[in-house]
Amino acid sequence: MKKILTLILAAAMLTGCIALASCGKTEEKVLNVYTNAGFAPYEYLDENGKVVGVDIDVVNYIGEKLGYKVIISDIDFDAILNEVAKDKFAVGAAGMSKKAERDEIALASDVYATSVQYIIAPTGTFEGEQVALADAVAYIAASGIKSIGVQKGTTGADLVGGAIEGTEAKTIEYSNAIIASQDIGSSVGAVVIDKMPAESICKDNENLQCWALDAEMESYVMYFNKDNADLVKQVNDVLKQMIADGLIDQYTVKHSS
Ligand code: GLN
Repeated sequence: MKKILTLILAAAMLTGCIALASCGKTEEKVLNVYTNAGFAPYEYLDENGKVVGVDIDVVNYIGEKLGYKVIISDIDFDAILNEVAKDKFAVGAAGMSKKAERDEIALASDVYATSVQYIIAPTGTFEGEQVALADAVAYIAASGIKSIGVQKGTTGADLVGGAIEGTEAKTIEYSNAIIASQDIGSSVGAVVIDKMPAESICKDNENLQCWALDAEMESYVMYFNKDNADLVKQVNDVLKQMIADGLIDQYTVKHSS
C-alpha cells in the first residue's frame, strides 16, 4: 500500500513538473542594463535603431560569461542611477565616470576606460588642440550667444557649471550631446562632452571642431546595485580578463571606425 502511494505521489509530482514546465530547470537570470544611446562609440543607435556600442559589447560578453540574459534599456542619462538603485540585478553601462556622489547611490565596477572633457565649437573657433576651460568660458561669455550646451546629469555639466560661476555665460542642458551640437551657432556657442563622443560628432560634421579641455582625466565604470557586491566581484573578474585580452580596445576600434 505504501509503495502504491509513493508511486502515485511520484507520478503527481512528475505531471506537476510537466505542467509547470519549469521542473529541474533553473530560472533564467536577467541583467537589466540601463544606458543612454547618444554617446558613440560607447552607446549609439545603428541604422536599424538598435542600441549598439562598446558598453553593449562589454555587457553582452559579461552576460554570456556569467550566464545572464542581458536586457538593454535606453533611458535618460540622469535617470540611470535611480533605476540601478531600485533593482538588485540592474547595471548602468553608459560611459559613466566614477564620482563620489554616484558611489553613494551605486556600486562601481573596476575602471574599464578613461576619458577627458572636450569642447565642440564651430571650426576655427580656438587655436591649437587644447583649450583652457576658463578661456573657452570667457570666449562664450563675450560672444553673442553666451550659452554652452551640456548633457544633463553628466560630469561635463558639473565641470561647466563650476566654470561659468561669476561669468556671464550660462549652460543649456540637453538629453544628449548630439542634440546639443545641432544647436551650435543658434542657442549655444559650444558643447562640452567626453572625448570620444565629441570626436564622433565632429567627424560627422565638417563645420564643427573638437578641442581637449584642460580638465582632469575621468575613469569609466559600470554602476551596480549596492546589494549586489557578489555580482560586481564576478564582473570585475571578467573585466580584468577582457582588458588583459585587449577585448575592450578591440570593441572601441570597431565602434569608432
Ligand atoms: N562620462 C560622463 C559622465 O559620467 C558622460 C557620460 C554620458 O553622457 N553617457 O557623466
